[in-house]
Amino acid sequence: MSQPFRQILPGSAIGVLGSGQLGRMFAIAARRMGYRVHTLSPESDTPTGQVADVEITASYDDLDAVRRFARGVSAVTFEFENVPAATAQAAAEFAPVRPDGSVLHTTQNRLREKSFLAAHGLPVVPFRRVQSLGDLHTGLEALGCPSVLKTAGYGYDGKGQIKIASPQQAAQAFGSIAGQDFILESFVDFRCELSVVAARGLDGQIVHWDVLENSHRNHILDISVAPARIEASVNREAVEIAFAVLEKLNVVGVLCVEFFLTQSGQLLINELAPRPHNSGHLTFDACVTSQFEQQLRTVCGLPLGSTQLLRPAAMANLLGCLWQEGEPDWAAACAFPDVKLHLYGKLAPKRGRKMGHLTALAENPQDASQKVRLARAALVRGRSVALPLEEV
Ligand code: AMP
Repeated sequence: MSQPFRQILPGSAIGVLGSGQLGRMFAIAARRMGYRVHTLSPESDTPTGQVADVEITASYDDLDAVRRFARGVSAVTFEFENVPAATAQAAAEFAPVRPDGSVLHTTQNRLREKSFLAAHGLPVVPFRRVQSLGDLHTGLEALGCPSVLKTAGYGYDGKGQIKIASPQQAAQAFGSIAGQDFILESFVDFRCELSVVAARGLDGQIVHWDVLENSHRNHILDISVAPARIEASVNREAVEIAFAVLEKLNVVGVLCVEFFLTQSGQLLINELAPRPHNSGHLTFDACVTSQFEQQLRTVCGLPLGSTQLLRPAAMANLLGCLWQEGEPDWAAACAFPDVKLHLYGKLAPKRGRKMGHLTALAENPQDASQKVRLARAALVRGRSVALPLEEV
């Protein structure tokens, strides 16, 4: 008979590797339930550190610091999946790391991730490995144009990727992107982008939130809406695929599956995030249990909470460009009574940096989406800040 696992109860300390907004919202959820939170990252005065009990500033490669950090907590999780495998291993000498380092290993590299998914019969965007200009030409012949060349590791929010419209652009594209290992993907003419955030407990139970409908701007998530306005069959299939991913990866924790829904109605996985995801931020205000509280529950071996959506909702990211002409007008957004403001405590509002988000609740997804856009536009009303046309 398998050993029953030990539950980690309120009053215990949980360690978070990484210190951004995901860790901050995790820490807020954890502290609300009476846990202590320790965070380790190379920075100080971080979004997570500002609300944690203990902030350790150390490189992820400083394995002695990582071991000391893990010794001081009952379990370790992460909010940033690009921590080196050795870091997760060092932490695991002293505390359970959830999800396991093997999940990080698979998902922090696009080639490993897509190969894993394809090997398990899950639908991914057609891809080829590229290590030389010759491979790129062969890949373009196989996949056709347009295609997208991406670095295999450490890419996010469109960083390290370039669209190739014709074979003549291959050499220039190959020279313009740093790295040694790449993935070439077919460019998908999608109808929309969707995501499923799901959680798997220590006992193997899986739960999911409503499918989210996402729109991106400059490759960065802009707006997420729940529930997604899609056919029931697509909804069902997206959830089934997400469940299969969590099971095959043996995840204990929260994981997001990002999809393209093609014009012909096919779902293709774009990428995985083995942690709470930006598209799931609205669960904080709109669901019985947020993705962050659920992450805590999975890490601690507690029963999972209800993922029920209380009201249709939409989330809009607040990027640094909103600060272009000074501090946004926070009171104007607060004048929308069904809109919630989240700011991450980041000190420097760089252009594409995620500084915070707004969540709007409404009677239906359409109204929620409209309301969150209006509230965001109100932050910079009368200023010349570049927003999408419908918001100006
Ligand atoms: P990624 O960092 O790979 O998630 O890419 C960020 C965004 O770029 C995606 O959410 C899409 O909007 C777009 N994108 C990435 N890969 C592709 C692709 N193969 N086809 C079409 N759009 C893509």
